[in-house]
Amino acid sequence: MILTISTNHHRASDLGYLLHKHPDRLQSVTLSVGKAHIFYPESGVDRTTVALLLDIDPIDLVKNARKLSGKGFALGQYVNDRPYVASSFMSVALSKAFSTAMNGRCDTMPDLVDEALPFEVRIYTLPAPKGGQSLIKALFEPLGYRVQLDRYLLDEQFPDWGPSKYYTLSLANSIPLKDLLSHLYVLMPALDNDKHYFVSQNEVDKLLQRGKGWLEGHPQKEQIISRYLINLRSLTNQALARLNDPVEIDEQENLNQEEVDRKLSLHQQRLQRAFDELKKSGAKRVIDLGCGEGKLMRLLIRDKQFEKIVGMDVSYTELLKCKERLHWDDMAPRLRERLDLFQGSLMYRDERLSGYDAAAVVEVIEHLDENRLQAFERVLFEMARPKTIVLTTPNSEYNAKYEQLHAGSMRHDDHRFEWNRKQFWEWANAVAERNSYIVEITGVGESDEQFGSPSQIAVFKYGN
Ligand code: SAH
Repeated sequence: MILTISTNHHRASDLGYLLHKHPDRLQSVTLSVGKAHIFYPESGVDRTTVALLLDIDPIDLVKNARKLSGKGFALGQYVNDRPYVASSFMSVALSKAFSTAMNGRCDTMPDLVDEALPFEVRIYTLPAPKGGQSLIKALFEPLGYRVQLDRYLLDEQFPDWGPSKYYTLSLANSIPLKDLLSHLYVLMPALDNDKHYFVSQNEVDKLLQRGKGWLEGHPQKEQIISRYLINLRSLTNQALARLNDPVEIDEQENLNQEEVDRKLSLHQQRLQRAFDELKKSGAKRVIDLGCGEGKLMRLLIRDKQFEKIVGMDVSYTELLKCKERLHWDDMAPRLRERLDLFQGSLMYRDERLSGYDAAAVVEVIEHLDENRLQAFERVLFEMARPKTIVLTTPNSEYNAKYEQLHAGSMRHDDHRFEWNRKQFWEWANAVAERNSYIVEITGVGESDEQFGSPSQIAVFKYGN
């Protein structure tokens, strides 16, 4: 993971003074998860380039995740792209390596601090979230950057597999160095969907400090703030208020399934149906697998029938959001006792999934690789084996009705597959048959004569 900053300012080698880093020396700073090295691949009066190279230690990463997360989130992120991609770590490295420059201090050449200099920045292996290309442009272009994006293929040997979510981002602008560094400091984590740090009050302060002078006038300020604070609503609102502009933010800014769904409030209907089925089953101990932000959990806690409500998700970020949405930290002890949350994956046998009357799997299977569904089936139906399993997934036939969707595309770009009614029916029946469940499948949402309902729900009962 590498970031370079170049200039061809008429005395390009002044960059060394501005950054307080001598061009002839390799220097390193220590991060909580490894090191960042600073060196100059080229240094001359015509052109100088400084490089910041992240050297992340995956072991530190896991230890750090434990330290941050405490009980319940300990599984850590053993397998992920963190060591290789530019992300929030780069932002931390940048502020550590160049803090004096970012604060606008240069004792040797104070005049240069506020001078607009021609800079080119390159960030290699930048992961972009949904709507990547246009989002990156929307963040940088209003600040005067010329943006160029080169997207990597998923695998160069197999071009048919198509593009990956990783880019090389090239930026060019004529601005003071301190502004350039502040922009990068805020905008890189705003692009990072999977932040490593625990987002707290501290981050609001840092964001506002680094955003001073440019963020309040940025047309995407709500989006930047919300993304930087991983969509944590209370912090986002607070940051916006402190920016003197108390704008209400929607829970989800992203162009994702929720947005497509919101029109019909399909997701609400789906959650309500899942709730109704769980209620009807008489279950007292319920586990919500792939709980996301805990929307179903929030419905369940209102009903006393559910004595134990546990959420599990593979994503640490989703679990953090879930905690925030449930007001976990200032929850009444009696409610707190009924709840639990933990990180885990449906791909691996896990004893923590046993001992529940019912499991919900709402809009999750389509996020799993289709060829791993067998593993999922074993984990849930064969090993955990709750009496009732309530499982929903989109009905792909209905996609034809969504104007925003191009023919053949899926509702969410993290969906690995979407099934039509027949495919779901066949899969669900085969799973039931193999594991001694019986299953009933129905549609959720307004039914179309030709395409059926937008969503499908299967209720599995064991041992009947
Ligand atoms: N059930 C929630 C969230 C659905 S989005 C709701 O209906 O609102 C899908 C969720 O599945 C995401 O939160 C994602 O992190 C989670 N997920 C994806 N793969 C998973 C896996 N292997 N194990 C557990 N959860 C997974």
